[in-house]
Amino acid sequence: MNDLAIPTMGYLVALGVGWLCVSPANAAERKRPPNIVVIFADDLGYGDLGCYGAAPSQTPHLDRMAQKGVRFTDFYAAQPVCSASRAGLLTGCYPNRIGIHGALSPAATVGIADAETTIAELLKSKGYATCAVGKWHLGHLPPFLPTRHGFDEYLGLPYSNDMWPHHPEAKTKERSYPNLPLIDGDKVVDAEITPEEMSTLTRRYTERAVDFIQRQQEQPFFLYFAHTMPHVPLYAGKRFQGVTQKGVYADVLREIDWSVGEVIGALEKAGVAQDTLVIFTSDNGPWLNYGNHGGSAGPLREGKGTVWEGGIREPFLAYWPGTIRPNTVQHAPAMTIDLLPTIAHLTGCVLPQLPIDGKNIWPLIQCEPGATTPHEAYWFYYKVHELQAIRSGKWKLIFPHSYRTMQGQAPGKDGTPGKYRMQKVTSPELYDLEKDIGERHNLAVEHPEVVQRLQALANRARADLGDALTSQRGTGRRSAGTTE
Ligand code: MG
Repeated sequence: MNDLAIPTMGYLVALGVGWLCVSPANAAERKRPPNIVVIFADDLGYGDLGCYGAAPSQTPHLDRMAQKGVRFTDFYAAQPVCSASRAGLLTGCYPNRIGIHGALSPAATVGIADAETTIAELLKSKGYATCAVGKWHLGHLPPFLPTRHGFDEYLGLPYSNDMWPHHPEAKTKERSYPNLPLIDGDKVVDAEITPEEMSTLTRRYTERAVDFIQRQQEQPFFLYFAHTMPHVPLYAGKRFQGVTQKGVYADVLREIDWSVGEVIGALEKAGVAQDTLVIFTSDNGPWLNYGNHGGSAGPLREGKGTVWEGGIREPFLAYWPGTIRPNTVQHAPAMTIDLLPTIAHLTGCVLPQLPIDGKNIWPLIQCEPGATTPHEAYWFYYKVHELQAIRSGKWKLIFPHSYRTMQGQAPGKDGTPGKYRMQKVTSPELYDLEKDIGERHNLAVEHPEVVQRLQALANRARADLGDALTSQRGTGRRSAGTTE
C-alpha cells in the first residue's frame, strides 16, 4: 500500500498518458467489453469533495479523477437512505418498485428478491468475474447475500456500521443491536467487529478490491466497492488518524480518497485502466444531526432522510482514460437507476425481463453535444411509498409532506446525535434548480402552468408505483424477497 500523501506510481503514469477520445461506438466495439468499477460512499455530502467546492480539499485522488473524467452537477441517489438507495443502483429500479424501503435492520426478514436482476447478474451473463466489497444492506439473511445475487465473492458488513452494540443510544429499546459481523463469501468470519477493527475496515476492503483486480487476467470484471463510511460511527485507519487536522470526518474522507487512488493505481498496474469504467458516487446526503461527524451538503438544502436536494443530490464522477473526455462537466439530471441500463449498453447485455426505471445515460457521460436526460421526470419517493417530490428539467415540485430538519436544533457532537424536529410542507412548492440550487424561493404562485405540468407527471408515477401521501396503490409494484 502506498503512502497516503503520495499518489500511486501507476496513477501518475495514468495522468501522464495522452487522452485519446474514442467515439461511443468504438468504445462499445472493443474486442472485450469493459471492466466496470462502481465505488459507492455512504452518507457523503454534495459539498464534501474538493471538486465540488470543499475547501480545503481533503480528496486529491477524487479531484484528479474529476479532472481526468466527467463530473455531474445534478446527479441523484434513488432515495435518501441506505438500503433503498442501494436497491436502486444495483437493479435500475426505483427502490419502492421492488419493495425495498428505508434502512433494513438486523431484525429484517426481507431482502432483494430473486426475481430482480442486479448489475452483477446481468454481467455474469456475459462471463464477467464479479466482486462486492463493503456494505451490502439489501438483506443480511442467506438468501439475500451478494453471493446469491450475482457476485462471485464478497467481503463486508451486512448492514450499517452503527447497527452494533456500541451505538451511542444503545441502551434504548429501538437501538438495541446484536454484534456486528464481518462476512466473507457467505460465511461470518468475525462475529463481533470491535471499535479497533472498525478502524481497519477501509484498508481491508481496499486490499480485497486491489487483490480482486490483480487476480483478473482472462475475464472482464465488475467490482462493486461500497464503503462503510463516512457513515457514523467514524473510524479512520491508524495512518490516517489526525492526518488532516480537521477532525475524524475529514480523516475518514481522506482514507476513502486514498482507497480510490489505490483502486485506480491497481487498474494501471494491471494494464487495464484504459479498458475500465470507474464510477464514484454516494448513497445519500450527509447525516446532519451528527454535527461534526456528518458531512456537508454544500449549498444544498437539508440532508439525508429528506428529498430536499441535500438528501438526494450526490457527487458523481466517471473516469475511463482514453474514452471519457477529461475535465468535462455534465449539468443534465441523472440518477443511480440509470447505471444498470448504461452498463448494459456498454457491455452488450440484454436488459432484465421485468420492467426497470433507469435509462442509458452514456451520451451524458460522454458529454455528447446536444445530449439531454432521457427522462421526462425523476420521481423522488421516500419512507414507504410517499411521492414527496418530482423533477422535470430545471423544475422541482415538492408535495405536501412532513420532513425532518436540524434548523433551530442543537447539532450532535463527536459521534452523539442531536435531535431532529419535524417540519411540514403544506402546499406544493416549486423551485427552479438552475437559479436556486438551495431551494429557497418557492415559485408555485408565479408558475401555475409548470405546477400543473409536474402534477400531471406525478400522476403517472402514482398510477405506476402508488403514493401513500394521496392514498394510491399503483399497479407496478413488486415484492421484496422474504423468508417468512
Ligand atoms: Mg447512507
